[in-house]
Amino acid sequence: MENKKFDPASQIQRLEIFGEFGGVNPSITDSSTFTFMTAQTMIDTFHGETEGCFLYSRHWNPTNKNLSDAMAAMEGTEGAWVTGSGMGAITTVLLQLCNAGDHIVTSVTTYGGTYAFLKNYLPKFNIEVTFLDISDLESVEAAIRPNTKLIYTESVTNPLLQVSDIPKLSEIAKKHNTKLVVDNTFTPMILSPFLLGADIVVYSMTKFINGNNDAIAGAICASNDFVSAISDVNDGTAMLLGPVLDPMRSSSILKNLHTLHIRMKQHSKNAMYLAERFKEIGLKFNYPGMPEHSDYQLFNSIRNEEFGYGGMIAMDLETAERAAALMELMQIKGVGYHAVSLGYFKTLFSNPGKSTSSEVPENVQLDMGMSPGLVRFSVGLDHDIESTYKLIHSCLTELNLI
Ligand SMILES: *Cc1c(COP(=O)(O)O)cnc(C)c1O
Repeated sequence: MENKKFDPASQIQRLEIFGEFGGVNPSITDSSTFTFMTAQTMIDTFHGETEGCFLYSRHWNPTNKNLSDAMAAMEGTEGAWVTGSGMGAITTVLLQLCNAGDHIVTSVTTYGGTYAFLKNYLPKFNIEVTFLDISDLESVEAAIRPNTKLIYTESVTNPLLQVSDIPKLSEIAKKHNTKLVVDNTFTPMILSPFLLGADIVVYSMTKFINGNNDAIAGAICASNDFVSAISDVNDGTAMLLGPVLDPMRSSSILKNLHTLHIRMKQHSKNAMYLAERFKEIGLKFNYPGMPEHSDYQLFNSIRNEEFGYGGMIAMDLETAERAAALMELMQIKGVGYHAVSLGYFKTLFSNPGKSTSSEVPENVQLDMGMSPGLVRFSVGLDHDIESTYKLIHSCLTELNLI
């Protein structure tokens, strides 16, 4: 029997959230505080007892609720909470799950900011972290201790594009009564980590989800219990540290979310085109959509097929000097922008060792297999990717790199 596949795009599209005057877009509630008709309702709300009542926008705001509902629909989770940045989402989850003296098992390849938080910031609270190769499931299990509160990974890791075996990691987490937290920033819609067994899914919405590079934002997708816990007025990490997203931004991100499925398909299509050409000319690169990639089979077994293999490619030019020369020339020739971040309509490229992963010490970068000459591409929505490829090819030729 064939299972009806999960369809994250229709999940969002089926939501009917419109404005109180019938506007096809919901109204923006740009109020920090909300009025109450009776003193008792306010007391009840502070005790977390009044369903549907808004109190103060650091806690909940109707516009944020609309975007949260859409994110939860996309992930298949009960709830979600939106934050002012991806780091705001990640740090809220980690600080909510861990107390002083607890322990975290994490992939060594993560976003640089996440790595820095785990490595340099959590020791303040005496929270210990074990960094390991997340594809080595035996060492993941062996690293778990009685005080391990969570296993942390990125579904497709930054910048090496390794795919995490979420179903197996989930089995390990469940067996040891710990939580699996997955950052799905690189692969929204392509992977549905919650349905694969993750307990909590975090996003930097700054990237593909918003897709315009005009805002910083994040999201936490989880059970209603967890969302209530982080927003609890007495001890919720989100409520007390205050990383809430501004409702004006929530509103614009929700509108952009409605085109995410089309954008993801185009990013993936263009990245696949480039990967095939790179292969023809014998370049060294990583793209999890190529049969040669070590995680190709795994990726195929867990992804929502119609969205492709994603828009990220990492080319390895071996030295930082060669990477720099190529990036500078590509920018001059109009391939795209030499910029960090991803998920833009233009192709963006950067050298992770010198930028987004520079928080990771060089010896650790080498240990994890990260070459100093890596050029990470976030392939754009180019209508004419053939011409973009020709430009890249001419840059490579001019610099004698092929
Ligand atoms: C950018 C990024 C983050 C951090 O998100 P911000 O919105 O910049 O705070 C976290 N994880 C991954 C994988 C990212 O690419």
